[in-house]
Amino acid sequence: MNALQARLAFEDRVEDMGVLDADDRVTCHVHGRWIHQCVASPIHVNPVTRHRWCRDCERALTVVIDELAGVVTMNCSRCGGGVSGATAHLLTACRASLRASGRDARSTAEAA
Ligand SMILES: [Zn+2]
Ligand SMILES: [Zn+2]
Repeated sequence: MNALQARLAFEDRVEDMGVLDADDRVTCHVHGRWIHQCVASPIHVNPVTRHRWCRDCERALTVVIDELAGVVTMNCSRCGGGVSGATAHLLTACRASLRASGRDARSTAEAA
Protein backbone atom coordinates (compact mmCIF):
# COMPACT_ATOMS: atom_id res chain seq x y z
CA MET A 1 0.00 0.00 0.00
CA ASN A 2 1.45 3.37 -0.96
CA ALA A 3 0.92 6.66 0.86
CA LEU A 4 -2.02 7.60 -1.36
CA GLN A 5 -3.88 4.33 -0.77
CA ALA A 6 -3.20 4.51 2.96
CA ARG A 7 -4.42 8.08 3.15
CA LEU A 8 -7.53 7.27 1.09
CA ALA A 9 -8.48 4.39 3.36
CA PHE A 10 -7.85 6.50 6.46
CA GLU A 11 -9.92 9.43 5.21
CA ASP A 12 -12.79 7.14 4.14
CA ARG A 13 -12.86 5.69 7.63
CA VAL A 14 -12.74 8.95 9.61
CA GLU A 15 -15.22 10.58 7.24
CA ASP A 16 -17.65 7.70 7.86
CA MET A 17 -17.15 8.23 11.58
CA GLY A 18 -18.16 11.87 11.16
CA VAL A 19 -14.77 13.06 12.37
CA LEU A 20 -13.53 14.38 9.04
CA ASP A 21 -15.44 16.85 6.91
CA ALA A 22 -15.52 15.98 3.19
CA ASP A 23 -14.07 19.42 2.48
CA ASP A 24 -11.00 18.65 4.56
CA ARG A 25 -10.05 15.51 2.62
CA VAL A 26 -6.78 15.62 0.68
CA THR A 27 -7.73 12.50 -1.28
CA CYS A 28 -10.69 11.94 -3.61
CA HIS A 29 -12.73 8.80 -3.02
CA VAL A 30 -14.40 9.10 -6.45
CA HIS A 31 -11.22 9.24 -8.50
CA GLY A 32 -8.94 7.45 -6.02
CA ARG A 33 -6.33 10.18 -6.34
CA TRP A 34 -4.87 13.12 -4.44
CA ILE A 35 -7.41 15.90 -4.58
CA HIS A 36 -5.15 18.27 -6.56
CA GLN A 37 -4.74 15.58 -9.25
CA CYS A 38 -8.45 15.40 -10.08
CA VAL A 39 -9.92 18.68 -8.87
CA ALA A 40 -9.98 19.93 -12.48
CA SER A 41 -12.56 17.23 -13.27
CA PRO A 42 -16.12 18.51 -13.89
CA ILE A 43 -17.48 16.46 -10.98
CA HIS A 44 -15.56 18.69 -8.57
CA VAL A 45 -17.72 21.60 -9.67
CA ASN A 46 -20.81 22.18 -7.52
CA PRO A 47 -23.10 25.16 -8.18
CA VAL A 48 -25.07 24.48 -4.98
CA THR A 49 -22.17 24.45 -2.53
CA ARG A 50 -20.16 26.72 -4.88
CA HIS A 51 -17.11 24.51 -4.99
CA ARG A 52 -15.21 25.72 -8.07
CA TRP A 53 -18.24 27.75 -9.17
CA CYS A 54 -18.57 31.43 -10.05
CA ARG A 55 -22.11 32.42 -9.15
CA ASP A 56 -21.99 35.77 -10.92
CA CYS A 57 -20.98 34.25 -14.25
CA GLU A 58 -22.63 30.86 -13.71
CA ARG A 59 -19.58 28.96 -14.81
CA ALA A 60 -16.92 26.64 -13.41
CA LEU A 61 -13.62 28.08 -12.24
CA THR A 62 -10.47 27.17 -14.14
CA VAL A 63 -7.89 25.27 -12.10
CA VAL A 64 -4.19 25.95 -12.48
CA ILE A 65 -1.75 23.75 -10.58
CA ASP A 66 2.00 24.14 -10.47
CA GLU A 67 3.19 20.98 -8.74
CA LEU A 68 6.81 22.10 -8.56
CA ALA A 69 6.04 25.46 -7.01
CA GLY A 70 3.21 24.00 -4.91
CA VAL A 71 0.82 26.65 -6.18
CA VAL A 72 -2.89 26.06 -6.80
CA THR A 73 -5.23 28.72 -8.12
CA MET A 74 -8.88 28.72 -9.20
CA ASN A 75 -10.33 31.60 -11.16
CA CYS A 76 -13.33 32.34 -13.31
CA SER A 77 -12.22 32.72 -16.92
CA ARG A 78 -14.78 35.49 -17.42
CA CYS A 79 -14.47 37.78 -14.39
CA GLY A 80 -11.15 36.56 -13.02
CA GLY A 81 -12.59 36.05 -9.54
CA GLY A 82 -15.43 33.87 -8.33
CA VAL A 83 -13.75 32.33 -5.29
CA SER A 84 -16.30 31.40 -2.58
CA GLY A 85 -15.80 30.09 0.91
CA ALA A 86 -16.22 26.55 -0.41
CA THR A 87 -13.64 27.15 -3.13
CA ALA A 88 -11.21 28.64 -0.62
CA HIS A 89 -11.63 25.47 1.44
CA LEU A 90 -10.97 23.36 -1.66
CA LEU A 91 -7.82 25.37 -2.41
CA THR A 92 -6.55 24.70 1.12
CA ALA A 93 -7.19 20.96 0.65
CA CYS A 94 -5.37 21.00 -2.72
CA ARG A 95 -2.31 22.68 -1.19
CA ALA A 96 -2.29 20.13 1.62
CA SER A 97 -2.61 17.30 -0.89
CA LEU A 98 0.27 18.70 -2.97
CA ARG A 99 2.44 18.67 0.15
CA ALA A 100 1.31 15.18 1.15
CA SER A 101 1.92 13.73 -2.32
CA GLY A 102 5.32 15.45 -2.49
CA ARG A 103 6.35 13.70 0.69
CA ASP A 104 5.18 10.44 -0.89
CA ALA A 105 7.26 11.04 -4.02
CA ARG A 106 10.35 11.86 -1.99
CA SER A 107 10.05 8.87 0.29
CA THR A 108 9.57 6.61 -2.75
CA ALA A 109 12.70 8.08 -4.33
CA GLU A 110 14.68 7.52 -1.16
CA ALA A 111 13.52 3.92 -0.94
CA ALA A 112 14.51 3.21 -4.55
ZN1 LIG B 1 -11.77 13.55 -7.72
ZN1 LIG C 1 -17.04 34.93 -12.89
